[in-house]
Amino acid sequence: MAKILCVLYDDPVDGYPQSYPRDDLPQMEHYPDGQRLPTPKDIGFRPGELLGSVSGELGLRQFLESQGHTLVVTSDKDGPDSTFERELPDSDVVISQPFWPAYLTADRIAKAPNLKLAITAGIGSDHVDLEAAAENGLTVAEVTYSNSISVSEHAVMQILALVRNYLPSYQWVLDQGWHIADCSQRAYDLEAMHCGVVAAGRIGLAVLRRLAPFDVHLHYTDRHRLPTEIEEELNLTYHPDVESLVQVCDVVSIHCPLHPETEHMFNDTLLGKMKRGAYLINTARGKICDREAIVRALESGQLAGYAGDVWFPQPAPKDHPWRTMPHHGMTPHTSGTTLSAQARYAAGTREILECWLEDRPIRDEYLIVDQGGLAGAGAHAYSTGNTTGGADEATKFGAT
Ligand code: NDP
Repeated sequence: MAKILCVLYDDPVDGYPQSYPRDDLPQMEHYPDGQRLPTPKDIGFRPGELLGSVSGELGLRQFLESQGHTLVVTSDKDGPDSTFERELPDSDVVISQPFWPAYLTADRIAKAPNLKLAITAGIGSDHVDLEAAAENGLTVAEVTYSNSISVSEHAVMQILALVRNYLPSYQWVLDQGWHIADCSQRAYDLEAMHCGVVAAGRIGLAVLRRLAPFDVHLHYTDRHRLPTEIEEELNLTYHPDVESLVQVCDVVSIHCPLHPETEHMFNDTLLGKMKRGAYLINTARGKICDREAIVRALESGQLAGYAGDVWFPQPAPKDHPWRTMPHHGMTPHTSGTTLSAQARYAAGTREILECWLEDRPIRDEYLIVDQGGLAGAGAHAYSTGNTTGGADEATKFGAT
């Protein structure tokens, strides 16, 4: 029998919801590129329920306990005295969501001799030391595509919020003002701007598609070029590297995974190559940007705005400078955990668990690390290495 250790974010401060604003979720047949939706034998929850918090348990308890397995669910994930570290040594499987990541560092992996499978309930497994996972024979799997469209919607929302100066204008309403000039002195139209994405994978391409009707000029860079018919359909300009892209774009949205090649990609040097007054949106991973360099670029006016939902570490310490820097539109890491997305990645998590427990292969598109190296989707989008350095700082959230 297996022990499954599942780290989820806390319930709402007012308690687990008794009701929801809507009664159902729209039905989908498949993902936009035809990929199959998650196909577990059963789901164990009602789509539309809050599944990503500790009381939601990703809908897994009845399924696992009915087969004699042990499920431990906790939000207490950081530091040596955390429930996560106490429960880890005899766990076979760890499940974690990027929104509230259980950092699976080499040290922690070394303390977990039974650990065989790390599931990311969502997308983006950079909270796992992928190099150590490979060396220790772990399988790392994530629910590819489950929340890609959710993130693309958030990115477009934040692009519009920055360019049109939405958040400060909304604040004037809350403050009982009617200060039109204060709102409009930083507000522009998106129309005719040059908008670029760094990486045109599932999310990046969805952002390009959603921006196209705004009559903007679209740009992208990626390690692999998109098919010609997509470039022509969206009238895309391809850039062989990120430097070339940022020099011409008014809006840049980041959509690559965090891995050694992309860590701190947006540093002082790259930010200095952007157009003065550009907007930078990052819903990929906080560490792709140099924390202090972003603050400097906003303070100097090199960037007109920065928004996103990803931070490092997570939860962000209360004194994290991105909470207070000028002209930002940050949210906590929420874009990929709408109730709609939760239903998909909870079902995908169960599909992965069913496969693993029944000794059936996990879908190739869900695999990040397997059999001692990057595999499946991971072999395509990641590079070998570790990006969890500095994750210890997450303990500061509770301490400050
Ligand atoms: P995909 O795997 O579909 O796309 C990733 C793309 O990044 C691929 O096209 C890949 O290129 C490209 N890429 C990798 N490295 C580089 C590089 N050095 N330079 C340029 N492009 C690069 O994943 P998704 O689009 O679904 O997700 C992307 C990332 O978004 C996730 O890894 C995660 O970090 C983040 N995310 C954030 C969420 C949130 O809630 N904020 C939720 C979901 C994801 P190629 O494969 O062509 O080599």
